[in-house]
Amino acid sequence: MSYFNKILLLLIYLIFNYSIADNNDIKINKIFSGIYFLNGVNEEPNAINQGAIANIAVIIGKKAVLVYDAGPSKSFALKLIKKIKSLTNAPIKYLIISHRHFDHAYGVEAFIEQGAKIYMDEREFKYFINEGPKINNLLIKNMGFNKNNINFDKILEKDITFLKSEKKINLGDRQVLISNLGEAHSKGDIIAYDYFSKTYIVGDFIFQGRAAAFSDANIHSWIKKIEQKLNLPWNYLIPGHGNIIDKKVGLNDTKNWLLFINKSIKKAITQGDMVSEVLDYEIPKNIRTLSMKKITLRQGLKRQIQLYKKKY
Ligand SMILES: [Zn+2]
Repeated sequence: MSYFNKILLLLIYLIFNYSIADNNDIKINKIFSGIYFLNGVNEEPNAINQGAIANIAVIIGKKAVLVYDAGPSKSFALKLIKKIKSLTNAPIKYLIISHRHFDHAYGVEAFIEQGAKIYMDEREFKYFINEGPKINNLLIKNMGFNKNNINFDKILEKDITFLKSEKKINLGDRQVLISNLGEAHSKGDIIAYDYFSKTYIVGDFIFQGRAAAFSDANIHSWIKKIEQKLNLPWNYLIPGHGNIIDKKVGLNDTKNWLLFINKSIKKAITQGDMVSEVLDYEIPKNIRTLSMKKITLRQGLKRQIQLYKKKY
């Protein structure tokens, strides 16, 4: 093959791959009437996925659209918005941010520009604004995120509505209940419930198939709330990570994992064990299949052991 042909082939390859990557960015599937689901990749954040690892749900009503979680960056959110606009003429009126973590919240700026009403927990917003720039720098430095990922100067308190307890939102032909559960995975987890399809959308309150991240959690309160707070009749539950759950037993991935964490931390404190030793504790059978166990433990244990020492 001539040099010229090789270059030509390479160019075709690059253009082809680029367009595939570009089109693949936003894959959103209709799961029930009016509910669309974007399944985040089941990976650690990296330069290729740019943090698009969390699930997103979109509820399209006759008069308005509600988006649950904003994705990891402004550019991602802009693509999501474009996609939604190709599905409906109804305006994107509401964005619910389940909690402050980058994979759920860093696309918020694009929704502010849309004029959407944005709901978030007040304490979560304070952490988001205060800790966000530092966390974002780490994502850029260590994970290969784009530099213009998010601009915290453009996100003002006046653009956010703090949800204290519950609110019913009317999308025209359907109603959605949003509820602030308080401390669980974060300082204030907000979940949503679509009455029409009996679907819960719960962010990182529930993980499926994957070890739940617990660095910023109140583990005791989280375990209790999983038992108490999902009290409306539901057919489907969309977790923050993993696949859609359609049976109560599907909540056990998260519950059993948290029970294991709780027990392990108490044992570590009693025995004076270090994080590296906790990593060698035997994993119970009922959570052995969960992915990302070791890395999740490494990320969360140190902080939680300190918290437990203060509390108990
Ligand atoms: Zn999270």
